[in-house]
Amino acid sequence: MKYNYIFLFFLLSLFSTLTYSEQTSLPSISIIIDDLGYKQKEDMLALSLPGPIAYAILPHAPYTKEVAIIASRNGKEILLHQPMQALENNDLLGPGALTLNMTEKEFVKTLETNINIMSNIIGINNHMGSLLTRHPGHMQWLMNVLKKNKYIYIDSLTSTNSVAGEIAGKNKIPFLKRDIFLDNKTDFEYITKKIFELIAIAKKEGTALAIAHPHFNTIEILSKFLQDIDKYGVKLIGIKSLTKIRNNEYYIDI
Ligand SMILES: [Zn+2]
Repeated sequence: MKYNYIFLFFLLSLFSTLTYSEQTSLPSISIIIDDLGYKQKEDMLALSLPGPIAYAILPHAPYTKEVAIIASRNGKEILLHQPMQALENNDLLGPGALTLNMTEKEFVKTLETNINIMSNIIGINNHMGSLLTRHPGHMQWLMNVLKKNKYIYIDSLTSTNSVAGEIAGKNKIPFLKRDIFLDNKTDFEYITKKIFELIAIAKKEGTALAIAHPHFNTIEILSKFLQDIDKYGVKLIGIKSLTKIRNNEYYIDI
């Protein structure tokens, strides 16, 4: 009888612990700052943001290596922000872009060269790419390189017709897609509104992934928001943590 009582007590305490931990697991947000490598002052300010913010750095930019080294030294996750051919404005792609007219050999060599510029990236997200991300053949070449290196692919979702998620799924590549851009306009009012949208998505879906850019207003607002993040009922998590939550089906150890 005594043992039954002890066992019951044990079960009850286990149950209350589970309930408690469920209540305390807040909705999670992740933030990637991309387009880094060109504006030293803004990039350095972005690097000073607190917590597990991820940094997506363009290859072959004047400050590519500097940003990558400082971010890694500060324990931040870094991504290659890979330029990919868009439907328009391809003059903004910058060097190291992947384009439709490349052979597989040229494509893979360009991508691997970009990857090797930075050490310890955890994955790749696309810079532009509204044309290239629609093409299954080219996305398969990309996934072959990612698979070999155990990288995560994050779709910036510059085209609603992107097939990157589908091809990543077929190849069992850890995959994330962007939920919201925070600063397509750079005034305080717009960015603040987008942060509230980000919080709302996280509360509805459990997680939310934002992409932002190294603009002075974005950094100022994010810095204030992150200082008080608990008050908004959400928590900030890194890209690897978000990948574990969203890819539990076929998560590859990374
Ligand atoms: Zn970009």
